[in-house]
Amino acid sequence: MPVAGPMGPCGPEPPEPEPEQMIRVLFPDGRVETMPLEEYLRAVVPAEMPALWPQEAVKAQAVAARSYAQYAIEHPRHPDADICTTTHCQVYNPAMIHPASDKAIQATSGIIGLFADKTINGIFSANCGGHTKNNQDVFGGAPVPYLQGVSCPDKGEQRGHGVGLCQYGARAFANQGYTYAQIIKHYYTGVSLGSITGPPPVQTSTIFGMVFNYTGQPAPNVRVVLTGPSHSAETTSQNDGTYRFTNVPAGTYQLALPDYGVVRENITTFPGQDLKIDLTIPAPVTVEITRGPGLPLIVGDWGTPNVSISVTPPQGGSFMVMTGTKLEYGPGGFEFYATEIGIYVLEIEVYRFEIPMNGQYTHLTFRKGVTPPEEQVRLVSTPMPRTQAENILQTELETNPATQGLFKVLPENR
Ligand SMILES: [Zn+2]
Ligand SMILES: [Zn+2]
Repeated sequence: MPVAGPMGPCGPEPPEPEPEQMIRVLFPDGRVETMPLEEYLRAVVPAEMPALWPQEAVKAQAVAARSYAQYAIEHPRHPDADICTTTHCQVYNPAMIHPASDKAIQATSGIIGLFADKTINGIFSANCGGHTKNNQDVFGGAPVPYLQGVSCPDKGEQRGHGVGLCQYGARAFANQGYTYAQIIKHYYTGVSLGSITGPPPVQTSTIFGMVFNYTGQPAPNVRVVLTGPSHSAETTSQNDGTYRFTNVPAGTYQLALPDYGVVRENITTFPGQDLKIDLTIPAPVTVEITRGPGLPLIVGDWGTPNVSISVTPPQGGSFMVMTGTKLEYGPGGFEFYATEIGIYVLEIEVYRFEIPMNGQYTHLTFRKGVTPPEEQVRLVSTPMPRTQAENILQTELETNPATQGLFKVLPENR
């Protein structure tokens, strides 16, 4: 008879924690201290770049400094240490530790630049002067593919050797909305981002850009919707017209301004690649309807040819009509029979028009980018004795500049 024993452990054992990457740091007094790489970076990143610079620039600095340190671990720069605390290697100063640089280090934890699956030597300098330098021209030796000169958005005076990441340039890129991944890939040509240990982290993308209105001005407060197979998100454009979706998994997406019928299909992101997509709100289009004698046709000119119009008659049964098929009305001319009584719905590009039909020849004039003149109305009073009305007209309406000349007294039967 089996004996009931204590329950065994359920499920798999928790995975062994990754061993922490350690670095041997040489201090000016000759002491060598071995410490975790991520801890070491806390005192390096803020010593090399102001912690309160744009966060994406600080993250780029963290990735550059981590790559530089990891490269030093793999190729020690001192006889009994990987790296030293001075400008000979990277400045290490625990007094500078700052929450903002800690945040950038954590956000990029373990991420380094890789070239051909190998750790890059993530060297950097303060200001390249507008174009970074080739490593072989500054340090001699063989050209390193990812340390060749590239353009830089910061046109300041050169400070430092000018090879690799330019710190002022990184700041300029970050101010323009670029991510740290884009900054790293700009300064280190052909480099991808990966992890020191284990497989590369799941890399996500940022989809960002501007929303413009039809006159080309930034459009704030516009709903932007991103829809994909496993990830959907909604945001609203900022006061400067920018929008941003972060942490977007690789995949194919649709981006839309649902309030304006704007849809961009087949937006494909690749791991770690960011996409800038600007969206424009289309100009409003109004339709003016004129009727005349003749056959029960709807005719008009859309302005451009080869645009399909979806027509839904009152009793259903949609069909398509192409613009540019009836050039007598214009370059985007079209014509079709509309014999049913009721509302014909025309859908053209992002627009939808409802055309009431009663068997008459109907000509449509489309006006883009203009709003129709406001409906004309009359302000009518309730009936009252003539003397009271004339009194109000003279003492109130005619003495007020806002209403002067606008009103008159009419018999009730008018
Ligand atoms: Zn050194
Ligand atoms: Zn630069």
